[in-house]
Amino acid sequence: MHETAIVSGLFEIINRQVSEHRIRKVSRVRLKVGDFAAVEPMTLTGCFEVFAEGTVVEGAELVIQRVPITGGCRACGLEFEVKNYDFRCPDCANSTVDMLSGKELYIDSLDVET
Ligand SMILES: [Zn+2]
Repeated sequence: MHETAIVSGLFEIINRQVSEHRIRKVSRVRLKVGDFAAVEPMTLTGCFEVFAEGTVVEGAELVIQRVPITGGCRACGLEFEVKNYDFRCPDCANSTVDMLSGKELYIDSLDVET
């Protein structure tokens, strides 16, 4: 499952932080998740809890911050929010559009006790 691989990757990063900074408890994990990452928040939270069990992350709150998909039109330069995966420019209808945000998937911050 998509989410399991994601959470596994996140925990590699968290565990590195935990051993480097001698963290005793992680109380909150803030994630930035772009809408284009196609992550189901409920599934992600469920996986997170499974991985956290028995570690210093157990009981931590997972905060998922959504990042909307935005595009930049190559023809007219307009930057706009992409709705329903429609990447055409709303201004000039050009379909040569660069994705400016929406693929994010990273840990924004950790609240910890050392
Ligand atoms: Zn345009």
